[in-house]
Amino acid sequence: MKNRIFASVAILCMALLSQPIFAADEKELPQTLFTNVNIFNGTEDRLYENHQVLVEGNIIRAISAGEIETRDDATVIEGDGRTLMPGFIENHAHLMLPGPTLPAMEANSTWEDLAIHGTRMAEMYLMQGFTTVRDAGGANAGLRRAIDSGTIIGPRFYPSAAFLSTRGGHADFANFTSPPGETSNFSRLNMAQEVDSVADMNKFARNNFRMGATQLKYMQSGGVVSAFDPWQLLAGSKEEIEAAVAVAESYGSYVMAHSYRKKAIMDALNAGVRSIEHGFMFDCEIAELMNEKGAYITTNLTAFAPGLFDIPAVRDVPASLRKARSATQAFENYIPNMKKCPVKRGFHTDCVGSVAACNKQIAYEKYLNGDFFGNYATLVAITSVGGEIAAMSGDFTNPYPDTRLGVVEKGAYADLLLIDGNPLEDLSVIGTSDKWFDAPERPASPETIRIIMKDGVVYKNTL
Ligand SMILES: [Zn+2]
Repeated sequence: MKNRIFASVAILCMALLSQPIFAADEKELPQTLFTNVNIFNGTEDRLYENHQVLVEGNIIRAISAGEIETRDDATVIEGDGRTLMPGFIENHAHLMLPGPTLPAMEANSTWEDLAIHGTRMAEMYLMQGFTTVRDAGGANAGLRRAIDSGTIIGPRFYPSAAFLSTRGGHADFANFTSPPGETSNFSRLNMAQEVDSVADMNKFARNNFRMGATQLKYMQSGGVVSAFDPWQLLAGSKEEIEAAVAVAESYGSYVMAHSYRKKAIMDALNAGVRSIEHGFMFDCEIAELMNEKGAYITTNLTAFAPGLFDIPAVRDVPASLRKARSATQAFENYIPNMKKCPVKRGFHTDCVGSVAACNKQIAYEKYLNGDFFGNYATLVAITSVGGEIAAMSGDFTNPYPDTRLGVVEKGAYADLLLIDGNPLEDLSVIGTSDKWFDAPERPASPETIRIIMKDGVVYKNTL
């Protein structure tokens, strides 16, 4: 608080005097020194043993195998050979969708329900070690404002504002009998908008950035748990997708597209989409185009879990259950293809529902990542790749534009976890679970995560 008052006084003085007065206002930033830590830096398959890391303010100022000099008032955290690693990054969450089903949410959610759910989800994510979350539809800038102002606690937050979806598409949450264009509960709250022309796209995409989106989310395929769309649907025209990309680029940002079929993925990439969500029919030709375009994929691996059929929104709705069965068959080559032709892949949970259920799903998603792709690939996906994806929101739309996320490097943001054990050898220390719905209630924060630091501030310390 003091800092902020100081800063605003400084700005006022600058305006009055029209003379820079930086020197008089410079204040020493708080220092935190981690000693004897083994560093996983987010990019390399190794630990840097017995290092020191100095955090100054919200930045990693120095990393050294030798001693780092600090001021006398520095806080010293003795790492005792624990692992220091970047805070986790979630690339696909929905903090404002409390569940249990899409029609129930559309019909019954008031803004209080949504705000309370979002607040609790934000806190849960941070205490599970996630220092950054990208929201893939439904949340506007209000939640970030509450987090960044210190009103509530939560991760850095990259919202997509309203899902952009065609009439009858994957984010058409309106009631069955609603006529086209009618205002729905979710369109009123700018959580989902119906987009059926280039003009619609321009209007709602621009409105999303106005509402604090850091990137756009377009529903380019159908889905499994939504009411009106086969998952194979190719939603939206080439012109509409290109319009979304053009609006995003005018804000220096990018589009993430929910795409299942190969044609949907290829069309998205060719239109300039930079982040393919799900991408279940991924193959080596897609990999080649992704690498050429500098694009990323994020995939919820729970789509390949047997427990998929236990989700109430799948289990209890015959049409969804049928869709889930056919999708499971069509997506069977995803894992082998991803291993054969790897691309940059980010961590993605895509939970819709209660905080307790999402807490379980996140832990299971971490476990599946390790099981399918190994510990190192999991740790890269959940740290440095997420940082690269966040940075695609660009210098003037990114709310955290000063430096890098998802790495332990000199000059990067001080988003750090201190963990018991070595996650490269034993992934369970980052809070995995090999059970999904039948898992016991998860703790608010994994015991093995001893320190959670975001933006240089410690939110958990059990040392
Ligand atoms: Zn999603």
